[in-house]
Amino acid sequence: MTSCGGIVPVVAVATERRYGLFIDGESVEPADGEIRELAEPATGEPLAQAATAGPGDVDRAVAAARAALDGPWGKTPPNERSRLLHALADAINANRKELAELEARNVGKAIASAKAELAQGVENFRFYASAIASIAGRSNPVGGSLLSYTLREPVGVCGQIVPWNYPLMLATWKLAPALAAGCTVVLKPDPLTPLTAIRLAELASEVGFPAGAVNVVPGDGPTTGVHLVKHAGVDKVAFTGSTQTGSEIMRLAAEPLKRVSLELGGKSPNLVFADADLEDAIPSSVWAIYYSAGQSCEARSRVLVEQSIYDDFVSRFADAAGSLKVGDPLDPETQMGSLISAAHRRRVHGFVERGRDEGAEVVTGGEPGDGRGSFYPPTVLTGVETRMAVAQEEIFGPVVTVTAFADEKEAVSIANDVRYGLFATVWTGDSARGHRLARQIKAGMIGVNMPYTAFPGIPFGGYKQSGFGRELGVETLDLYLETKAVLVSTSPKPFNPFGL
Ligand code: NAD
Repeated sequence: MTSCGGIVPVVAVATERRYGLFIDGESVEPADGEIRELAEPATGEPLAQAATAGPGDVDRAVAAARAALDGPWGKTPPNERSRLLHALADAINANRKELAELEARNVGKAIASAKAELAQGVENFRFYASAIASIAGRSNPVGGSLLSYTLREPVGVCGQIVPWNYPLMLATWKLAPALAAGCTVVLKPDPLTPLTAIRLAELASEVGFPAGAVNVVPGDGPTTGVHLVKHAGVDKVAFTGSTQTGSEIMRLAAEPLKRVSLELGGKSPNLVFADADLEDAIPSSVWAIYYSAGQSCEARSRVLVEQSIYDDFVSRFADAAGSLKVGDPLDPETQMGSLISAAHRRRVHGFVERGRDEGAEVVTGGEPGDGRGSFYPPTVLTGVETRMAVAQEEIFGPVVTVTAFADEKEAVSIANDVRYGLFATVWTGDSARGHRLARQIKAGMIGVNMPYTAFPGIPFGGYKQSGFGRELGVETLDLYLETKAVLVSTSPKPFNPFGL
């Protein structure tokens, strides 16, 4: 592992500019929010000044979104919406160097990861640009003298809230289907990571999206976020974040009643059977937890290993984890950057301490880095039992628990014994077993000998307390569309139901 401290950035984007809010087609100063200094989590050095929105700014953004919906965006036909989504994909791609560096510096994320996420963001817009063609009503064959057909119409103004771990990519997950469906958006990024979302809105404006179609109001959850969710002018709320906040959002959205979709936390299992190809399963399982420093909802943070290969697996997995290149996010060789903040690192380390207290053994890692950046090393906890907090709670850092299982039945039982159900990966040489477990594990997505998780076109989302609603799929459009049934009489005679 490379050193976690004393980083010298190898590339730098000029961030002297001040990032405003993006409302009604332009960058604006906050009316009742404030300007904050952002620091790079990997170095502690100043990064940029960025605006956060207050409730009055949210009101302005919602009014702009409503005016665009009732005006130019609402009148934009599907083929033109598709052209604009493609144009935005092109613009993200053309600005990829700036966006990837901005994201890496703002989040502390390895630049290689930021580039991969940016490429996916481009594809998301392309996918929904094409998926617009699938938006259609149908004629309903009820017969008699009734002609009926359905229209699909945009739900309206969408309040979309995203967390700090994938600020750019998750903004594309939210924006692309909403805009494809003809909705307008008020997007609230986390106040720690607003920069790439603001750039995304600027690019949307530059390529021709009408003013008010995309508004971005970074701000604190308990004030700005709550105001957006409760706002009477918002028709639908789409949220990605923790299960605790998702639960609060569902409560807030009950009055006035609005549509809600929730992508929440996870404690995803990674099952390794003795018949698996360990040459593939071990490095892939290392990637599946330590990508993005474990700050991923679908991080496979619980490795379950068949007893007969447990010792061999643990020793090889820990060696591979310890060899990861941790360091400067802007170094192209870096595989894992820093955590988002010192406060988050304290939380992650608190879980490791708790695991130790409960009887787990720290095989590698387990001590915070000593430099200015918020680094935490890849950490492996063994001897973990299902009852322990580290096996149940989302740590959201580079910490994996390893637990042995005796047979397939016990593996499924441990895999399902958490409140979450986002993702599961199964490593086995027996393809029938892979399909069998895909049906038995309670999760929204199952990978069989496949570590990767998110592809445009494949529905992404959770079972149980990992939320509801799917993103990235064609069906995501349904979250942003209403179905209106039209009933027409073809009878030559009047109905006169009361016989008047
Ligand atoms: P969080 O819930 O604290 O915050 C997420 C967002 O919600 C932020 O923008 C925050 O400002 C806002 N927010 C907080 N409280 C709010 C409130 N009361 N009302 C409205 N908005 C509020 O989550 P976090 O810790 O910042 O992010 C990590 C979490 O996100 C993890 O649990 C992770 O699993 C989850 N996540 C899920 C997915 C998925 O697709 N399922 C993807 C990425 C992250």
